[in-house]
Amino acid sequence: MRSTPKTAEHRTNTHNMQEHLLHVQDLSVRFATGDGDVHAVNGISFTLDAGQTLGIVGESGSGKSQSVLAMMGLLAKNGHASGQALFRGQNLLGMPTTALNQIRGNRVAMIFQDPMTSLNPYLTVERQMTEVLEFHKGMSRSAARKRALEVLDAVKIPDAARRIDMYPHEFSGGMRQRVMIAMALLCEPELLIADEPTTALDVTVQAQILALMRELQKDTGTAIIMITHDLGVVAGLCDQVIVMYGGRVMEQAVARHIFYQPSHPYTQGLLGAIPRIHGDGEERLYAIPGTPPVSSTRSTGCPFAPRCAFAFDRCHQETPALLPCNDEPGLLRACHLPPEQVRQTPIAQPSA
Ligand code: SF4
Repeated sequence: MRSTPKTAEHRTNTHNMQEHLLHVQDLSVRFATGDGDVHAVNGISFTLDAGQTLGIVGESGSGKSQSVLAMMGLLAKNGHASGQALFRGQNLLGMPTTALNQIRGNRVAMIFQDPMTSLNPYLTVERQMTEVLEFHKGMSRSAARKRALEVLDAVKIPDAARRIDMYPHEFSGGMRQRVMIAMALLCEPELLIADEPTTALDVTVQAQILALMRELQKDTGTAIIMITHDLGVVAGLCDQVIVMYGGRVMEQAVARHIFYQPSHPYTQGLLGAIPRIHGDGEERLYAIPGTPPVSSTRSTGCPFAPRCAFAFDRCHQETPALLPCNDEPGLLRACHLPPEQVRQTPIAQPSA
């Protein structure tokens, strides 16, 4: 049977949709609660291509995790997502569960802060890994075991041939996280979503896991979305960074811009909280005063205003829109003050 001839316009549209690995447009998430709707995410947009890494950074309740859970169809029952999340041109939002199951754990994989919430304590690592390959790739048990061993070797689990038959509780925290990464990489996903993957680990193991992710990405070309509260974690790993607060994007730019020329008061505060390698060891870290909002109920004004050292009357009355900066291509920010004014004024120093 001959296929229907495609018009030039159709081909162009299809190409435009498929040229990005992931194209998220105006993604919003709200939860229906007894006290009314909570707007957890308000209009996040980005594109990600193969081999790139995006960092989504913010404190608890900023909406960073809900954004990716929405894309993966993993919101709580009272959650509702709107907008678009095109993965290779297919909208993940509203996709039937059977179709999503073909993508989740296969073409898109997730790793979480606590591996024990994702690993089954009653099954050996071998059984958990081979099950994934049998389900998604139709492999035999012996072929799946061979592939599982290859991946455990790749994430540097020592003595993998023996340890593959152990249970998750027999591994240390760092080794469990490596097993989680191995599970995620089993099917060679095009996209890996890592939600606070190193938060529960000590700094040495954290550095090892991040180095491992960088190395694996170089070898496989997998795109990564790294979700973290710690801007230090995304340094050296990410191409682009989205800084979120109270369910809104505060600043969005290429990573070097965020690290070397932060133009938003909240980003400046997060950067001030990172210890500096070349410091004299005596300086105190900056702590943003106050606490993040518990839930993002709609209110007027900038969500960061109660904690912002720069806040003025307008900030409490009018929510700043996320806008591009004319003279700084690629930079988006939501702040009533111009970037240069924020940069010229260092963030408030903590009292001695
Ligand atoms: Fe601070 Fe106002 Fe900018 Fe919000 S809009 S970050 S409160 S200066």
